[in-house]
Amino acid sequence: MPTTVKAYAATSATEPLVPTTIERRDVGPHDVRIDIRYCGVCHSDIHTARGEWGAMNYPIVLGHEIAGVVAEVGAEVTRFRVGDRVGVGCLVDSCRECRYCRRGDEQFCAEGYVETYSGTGRDGRPTQGGYAEAIVVTEDFVLRIPDPIALDVAAPLLCAGITVYSPLRHWGAGPGTRVAVVGLGGLGHMAVQLAAAMGAEVTVLSQSLKKQEDGLRLGAAHYAATSDPDAFTRLAASFDLVVNTVSASVDVDRYLSLLAVDGTMVNVGIPEHPVSLDVFSLLMRRVSYAASNIGGIRETQEMLDFCAEHGIAALVETIGAEQINEAYERVVASDVRYRFVVDTSTLA
Ligand code: NAP
Ligand code: ZN
Ligand code: ZN
Repeated sequence: MPTTVKAYAATSATEPLVPTTIERRDVGPHDVRIDIRYCGVCHSDIHTARGEWGAMNYPIVLGHEIAGVVAEVGAEVTRFRVGDRVGVGCLVDSCRECRYCRRGDEQFCAEGYVETYSGTGRDGRPTQGGYAEAIVVTEDFVLRIPDPIALDVAAPLLCAGITVYSPLRHWGAGPGTRVAVVGLGGLGHMAVQLAAAMGAEVTVLSQSLKKQEDGLRLGAAHYAATSDPDAFTRLAASFDLVVNTVSASVDVDRYLSLLAVDGTMVNVGIPEHPVSLDVFSLLMRRVSYAASNIGGIRETQEMLDFCAEHGIAALVETIGAEQINEAYERVVASDVRYRFVVDTSTLA
């Protein structure tokens, strides 16, 4: 029997989110039912809810930074038991057979992976996310949250954490590399901690110096304000990797000017509108402009274990479900230190 659970949903692109109930599927042989304790508020939830990436089918329960406890396991489940501390990120299934799935890159599944919300499950039903009391997920897409990391500060690792960990690893952040993190929000504050723990020399580029003390405490060696007209001249050609986490459009050429020869700028921020750039910005120092989408399941577990080993977690502001709409406004205004996390026990 499907279970009815309390949730919070977007019902249109322009109206506030409202309390609702949704059905979760019965626990199949390979499924795990998770009692959700906390769910992070990712800027992608806001882009999606507001139709900024295209028209959506409503209602949508957002939320793909899910941390909770296993409440029930299917008969064939081998990796989890009732009571285990677990997480679910942006992916809840994929074909599992294509070359990308086989090598652990389910985020590039040739068939398209099943998104935690606003997707279509392999059973043909629409998926609904983590602003809810519980979720049912096939065990292969469930992550183990290491004991040292509390569930509230673990939740944002499931999207913000892996989304910056993956490109930092892919482009070789480590000792001797100079990494700039643009935007100190949810993704940015994880990128600073992770890149510093990998051994890179980290610089934060934020709109102002308001969060400088935090940035340095999180592990940055340097901090600059992009509103300072001299910053771009001072920092010209001085980074191997620029990780752009900004949710809005930026002047790409300006940021490419910060790269040293053979450097890479990688967008993890996904602005509403297309970007443009001048080819001269690339060719004069053979630099690359790239983008990166979350990370696979194996790499997400690696990231969680890395965080536990290095004492890294998200800095969160815990809110009740009735504060989600206010939190959305504050995220859009860059007024979050550094992730809102919904305490799902407050679902009315
Ligand atoms: P966030 O918490 O709102 O952080 C974004 C930061 O960007 C802000 O804190 C702010 O930093 C800066 N910023 C915002 N508006 C700006 C503007 N107009 N000009 C310059 N800087 C601005 O958002 P988030 O949750 O980290 O997500 C960031 C972006 O990544 C979103 O577009 C989201 O959809 C995307 N995302 C992508 C993936 C992926 O797989 N690629 C995964 C998750 C999220 P300062 O105050 O420091 O300037
Ligand atoms: Zn996200
Ligand atoms: Zn696949």
